[in-house]
Amino acid sequence: MCPTGFLGFVKIGDREWSTREINVLRAIGALFAQLQARVVAEERLRFIANHDDLTGLGNRRALLEYMEQRLAPGQSGPVATFFLDLDRLKALNDFLGHTAGDNFIRTLATRLREHRDPVDMIARLGGDEFVIVPAKPMDSVEAELEATRIQELIGRRVTVGDESVSRAASVGVALGVPGETTVADVLRRADHALLAAKSGGGNGIAVFTDTMRAQFELQDDVELNLRGAVADGSLILHYQPEVDLRTGRVVALEALVRWQHPTRGLLPPGAFVGVAEATNLAGELGRWVIRTACAQFSDWRQRGLANDVVIRINVSPVQLVSLDFVESMEDTLRRFGIDGSSVCLEITEHIVVQDLTRTQVTLRGLKRMGIQIAIDDFGTGYSSLSHLKALPVDAVKIDRGFVQRLGASTDDLAIVKSIVGLAGSFGLGVVGEGVETAIAARTLVGLGCYRAQGFLIARPMPAEQVEAHLAAGRIPLDLELPRVPRG
Ligand code: C2E
Ligand code: MG
Ligand code: MG
Repeated sequence: MCPTGFLGFVKIGDREWSTREINVLRAIGALFAQLQARVVAEERLRFIANHDDLTGLGNRRALLEYMEQRLAPGQSGPVATFFLDLDRLKALNDFLGHTAGDNFIRTLATRLREHRDPVDMIARLGGDEFVIVPAKPMDSVEAELEATRIQELIGRRVTVGDESVSRAASVGVALGVPGETTVADVLRRADHALLAAKSGGGNGIAVFTDTMRAQFELQDDVELNLRGAVADGSLILHYQPEVDLRTGRVVALEALVRWQHPTRGLLPPGAFVGVAEATNLAGELGRWVIRTACAQFSDWRQRGLANDVVIRINVSPVQLVSLDFVESMEDTLRRFGIDGSSVCLEITEHIVVQDLTRTQVTLRGLKRMGIQIAIDDFGTGYSSLSHLKALPVDAVKIDRGFVQRLGASTDDLAIVKSIVGLAGSFGLGVVGEGVETAIAARTLVGLGCYRAQGFLIARPMPAEQVEAHLAAGRIPLDLELPRVPRG
């Protein structure tokens, strides 16, 4: 055992230490040594408990303790919190190995510590996630500047082994007000802001805003209540007629889902379909939509309405790649006595591009039942001619973005013209979406696209209202069309 110090006593007078006295002194010395060892061990334990193994930076626990103090009532604020995430660290681990990845993170940690105020909290939460809480209070403008500085610091090159590498970082920023905001809230907001920062493809900065808050609250709410809504009847379908522009004849109805939310009113699909898709609820939601639309359609048919009308149903990519989709479609059609050719499923262009092989298999199965397939929002994705050729598709719906500005934008005119031409050369039907003006409608007709849907013709509406249009069979339009051949 090595000596850790000296224990000294002053001897007054001329006398030898007795053996007993020396033993007592030794015992006291040993006690001190033990005490000291214990203090060191406790300090070490405390360090381990509060620090990240790899980098020696604070860990989650230290961060929480620190933030708790900073956000206590009476402390000065706002307290800015920066959530950082290195872009594509995985690639670095994959190509240079995990040791290189670890070294990279260690070097970054040292750099952060060296360049920042020693009283700032810098924590690593694991992986490539870091959180910085500067000791200095700052408002959102200062915080955004600070985020840029942090990003620049992280982005500098690092030498790992023989390689010089750099990783950009995305930074999410949230501000907490002492005495008002809880630690959990600030961290959640910074995390949300980080998601927003990363959504642009990396190297982004986002400060948590009220709009973001509203959006995330809605998302949480949707996640929490959507499953219940599917079961308790608060989802409803509206139907938007599609007509032949030359005659006004109703040729199809598109089922569009809405959610009658207990506190937020009638929510459009844009507010919840995406959340459903991200949280495994798309299957359930989709089955409900298909079942309800088919039940309604079959009811209309039995009452002599909708005989020459096709029902159009939107399906999520997730539904389309689920293994039993074709079977469950078949069951539903049988149950409601609907022939496949009266149904058109609308899929977005994106899925077509993403998973061509799987999509092909499902679509072929659907085609065997005579079901029609349309590509929705056509023109916004990247499907090429080869995709269209490879898939058993019957029609494309021109995205409303192009149709809306027909008459005002020559670019859009050129695009719509080429889509109509393309559809024609592949023998596909074509439908114009989002017809809001008579000039757009006339232009479509002029280009040879006769089928259309849009607010000019009719808005999406509840089933009872659409019945009047079905009974009439047409929606009169006053387009003052030049004489066109009727087909
Ligand atoms: P979509 O399939 O392209 O449906 C057309 C959307 O355009 C509808 O919005 C409709 O209200 C809107 N629209 C129609 N005509 C006009 C117009 O003239 N001007 C403008 N500005 N808008 C027009 P909605 O109902 O909000 O639906 C949005 C999207 O949500 C749909 O786009 C579809 O992709 C999706 N969606 C709707 N229902 C379902 C569903 O049951 N399942 C799935 N997976 N997605 C659905
Ligand atoms: Mg659609
Ligand atoms: Mg569309």
